[in-house]
Amino acid sequence: MAKILVYDPYANKIYTYPNLSESDPMPYSYGTTLRVREFRGSSSSPTLWTTTAAMEAWNLTRRKYGKGIYVGYAFKRIWEGGHSATSQHYAGVAFDVGQNTTAAVRKQIWQAAKDTGAWGYVEPLSMTPTWVHFDRRLGTPACGGSSGYPTLRSGATGVYVLIMQDALNALGYSTRTLDGKFGPNTLSALKAFQCSVGLSADGVCGCNTWKKLTSAALGIGRTATVLN
Ligand SMILES: [Zn+2]
Repeated sequence: MAKILVYDPYANKIYTYPNLSESDPMPYSYGTTLRVREFRGSSSSPTLWTTTAAMEAWNLTRRKYGKGIYVGYAFKRIWEGGHSATSQHYAGVAFDVGQNTTAAVRKQIWQAAKDTGAWGYVEPLSMTPTWVHFDRRLGTPACGGSSGYPTLRSGATGVYVLIMQDALNALGYSTRTLDGKFGPNTLSALKAFQCSVGLSADGVCGCNTWKKLTSAALGIGRTATVLN
């Protein structure tokens, strides 16, 4: 069973699906083209998250390609690791697909994803020779450039707040809830973390805070203070 949180960037709201089975389709996905177990890949987390925008991009890609797409990896918690410290997989908006097929087929999947115009990023095949990566990243990266997570302030909502809360909890700075809402408890936890690493405790998760937070939590495994 899985609990799925879905952030809708248009309404700026998070919808909760508390009790889905592994063979259920992901919320907002088309038909049975993406089941919970496919989206989870190798993640063992009881709680998963994504966005309506990522699911829409998946639906468009799947329709354009017209056949089943093998999904090797999609969601991962930051403490599970396996991707870079700025990876969109921790936001639940990235897919690594086509691992079990030929380069020619991967090229077709890549082209279909590109042609939808719905993804924020479709990785050049030269960078991932044995799979296809696409993601529906949102916002302006806090450290500039085109990758990484946006600056978060109190009152923010969404999948990047979930990454921040998840990293804080894993490191022992409790946000009390893992709900994607940057409220007072999350603010206290963030300030305590900022203090502990010598940053000014302004309660804003910008470039420097993201760097310290993600490098501290990346791939450390489930700790006793992780929330589900
Ligand atoms: Zn990827």
